[in-house]
Amino acid sequence: MNYFQKDIETMPRKKIEELQLERLKSVVAYCYNNSRFYHDRLEKAGVGDGSRIKQLSDIQYIPYTTKDDFREHYPFGLRSVPMKDVVRIHASSGTTGKPTVGLYTKEDIENWSDCVARVTVAGGVTADDIIQISFGYGLFTGALGLHFGLEKVGATVIPASSGNTEKQLMMMRDFGVTGIVATPSYALYLSEAIKEGEHPLSEYKLKLGILGSEPCTPEMRSQIEQNLGIYVSDNYGMTELGGPGVSGDCPERNGMHFAEDHFLPEIINTETGEWAPQGEVGELVVTTLTRRAMPVLRYRTKDITRLIYEPCSCGRTHVRMAKTMGRTDDMLIIKGVNVFPTQIESALVGTEKIGPHYQLVVRRENFRDTLEIRVELIDAKVLESFGELERLRNSIENKLRSVLGLQTKVTLVKPKSLERFQGKAKRILDLRNVENK
Ligand code: ADP
Ligand code: ZN
Repeated sequence: MNYFQKDIETMPRKKIEELQLERLKSVVAYCYNNSRFYHDRLEKAGVGDGSRIKQLSDIQYIPYTTKDDFREHYPFGLRSVPMKDVVRIHASSGTTGKPTVGLYTKEDIENWSDCVARVTVAGGVTADDIIQISFGYGLFTGALGLHFGLEKVGATVIPASSGNTEKQLMMMRDFGVTGIVATPSYALYLSEAIKEGEHPLSEYKLKLGILGSEPCTPEMRSQIEQNLGIYVSDNYGMTELGGPGVSGDCPERNGMHFAEDHFLPEIINTETGEWAPQGEVGELVVTTLTRRAMPVLRYRTKDITRLIYEPCSCGRTHVRMAKTMGRTDDMLIIKGVNVFPTQIESALVGTEKIGPHYQLVVRRENFRDTLEIRVELIDAKVLESFGELERLRNSIENKLRSVLGLQTKVTLVKPKSLERFQGKAKRILDLRNVENK
């Protein structure tokens, strides 16, 4: 079994919890003393410098931090060190407003790289691997995060960045690339490009996919694995918590192990803000335990998941988080029923005659939200037979009805007619505010 930091990754639970308590106290004191933002928050909440924290559950007295806090204190308001100690700035893409900024000290970069190294080793990477990073290089945490982590493992890193698929494929062949870092969507796109190109898969040495940065259902994962003949592992993170490496798959692939010595996870009920009962699904909240430039207390990630405390047979003792269902923002409410795109993905992908590409179109008709699911056919011939088309459509609608408890409208579309994505997929087309203006 491969580990990057075996002693830490397999530390007995009791020890992990002791370490977390010690680090929680010290990060609260650190925030109180070094961050104007947290000083005021902690003072107001009566937590002060954290000296009253006696057990991990006392974390409940600390107020949550939200994305709005990042926005309101843009760009450096959550900083806890003098600017001269900051060695790196990253930021989220900021598609929904001002970008969220992340700051790092030298020590933060070291710890971050360790966490990323752990998830890549758990995903099968060794010093013998040649890994192509097809995440966009720039402010995005994904590319440089994986880059530094993989270098720590000793793998050969190719900073390919995103885009220019032909060139990406050429490098893969010429450099003997054994693994790729990308979003699941881009991995899927690459597999199509290989299939349609002049060079068969046998000319590639690919065996690993270290994919992440967006949800990927097990069904989509198997599709990617089949298409590219690789083994795929998932890893999770976000700008607000420093980037990737927060959690990642082990060989069991039944939940991603948290780096619990650096991050303390909780699950809350999104509506009430109270703790969800152990093991139940809710919103993930995370406290960074070791970050220095920008520690974050109880960050509400908006990602919906659950924590798995049962021991894992891989030997790692850190708690696992189930694959996320998506963000609270992505949840659709159709005829009063909550729907996550991942539920639809699970039901669709792998179904006979349809490919892994889909789009969800949300409209408002007669003051009600409706959902149309566009699914790509593998073979355009189906479109020529009305009978067959109807049969297929009905069977998909029935399948979705049993999964979602909802009648949806499925439209089967021509192969290659839906958009492909080189970064994170945008599969929801929301026409509610466009059509009704
Ligand atoms: P942006 O806000 O620009 O998308 P981030 O990279 O910080 O920038 O996005 C982080 C979010 O991406 C997470 O909160 C989560 O919703 C999603 N995400 C990242 N990794 C995964 C993963 N492995 N599985 C599911 N969702 C993920
Ligand atoms: Zn495990």
